[in-house]
Amino acid sequence: MAVNCAAGGGAVGSLPCGDCGPCRRIAAGSHPDVLVLEPAGKEFRIDQVRELCRELALKPYEGRHRVALIAGAERLNPHAANALLKVLEEPPERTLIVLTAPQAADLLPTIVSRCRQLRFKPIAARHLAAILERAHGVPAAEAEAVADTAGGSVTRALAMLRQGWPEKRRRLLAELPELAGGPPLRALLLAASVSRARSEAEEVLGLVASWVRDLAFAAEGVAHLVNRDVRGEIAEAAGRLPGDFAPRAWEALQRAERRLAANVQPRAVLEALFLELAAAGSLPARSGAGAVNPSGNPG
Ligand SMILES: [Zn+2]
Repeated sequence: MAVNCAAGGGAVGSLPCGDCGPCRRIAAGSHPDVLVLEPAGKEFRIDQVRELCRELALKPYEGRHRVALIAGAERLNPHAANALLKVLEEPPERTLIVLTAPQAADLLPTIVSRCRQLRFKPIAARHLAAILERAHGVPAAEAEAVADTAGGSVTRALAMLRQGWPEKRRRLLAELPELAGGPPLRALLLAASVSRARSEAEEVLGLVASWVRDLAFAAEGVAHLVNRDVRGEIAEAAGRLPGDFAPRAWEALQRAERRLAANVQPRAVLEALFLELAAAGSLPARSGAGAVNPSGNPG
């Protein structure tokens, strides 16, 4: 965006406006001079790389610069990497080739030696929300919610949108207050409905964390909540659940994160977490001044 922005002038170090035609087309993935290459399956095929080299030999269509993004370059096998060497060594004029990888050590040394290394920082949640809103037409509340969970990555945010995350999030946020203090069966059914993939389980943990944080903040009267669109429901739950629900839920979440990182099955992780949330919501308050116990147990 910075090198093709119509407003920024393309000067070294200038930031893209995010609003002009080229910026919007780049953010929407429809700019003809921004080529994104992703692996076909587990690895890049050599003909994908050859096709890219052929395209790069042509002049840019409309941009001042052409940009080729090779996303996940750690999945270039040696043949595909070798096919890329020549164009990396002598890139066509006005062409930027960007290879992303978790770390340089994941790439062949012959590739690394032909590149300059840059560290890409995660994008701040509010900037990410603005990108989703302006370039992708995502409603503000949804954009903020996705940005909060996407870990600063546009790619991840867009994947979450494609996979219907806003809808899943709404459903989970409606379900969580019922789950806390509810019957165990409810917890098991909820786990069964969301836990197909590890990445989805991670997103669910992120969402539960934001909900628990909001509950704790709401109980203390803090106005700034992450899930602002369900502020009323969160305030209601904060008033109803035992005073020590949030710290107990937080401990359960940390256990769940450790278990997911240790490769325990996502569904088993979520079942245990939701059962703990159900139990924590039905315990008599230990210290919650003003908290109302919904379960009717003598407290
Ligand atoms: Zn611009």
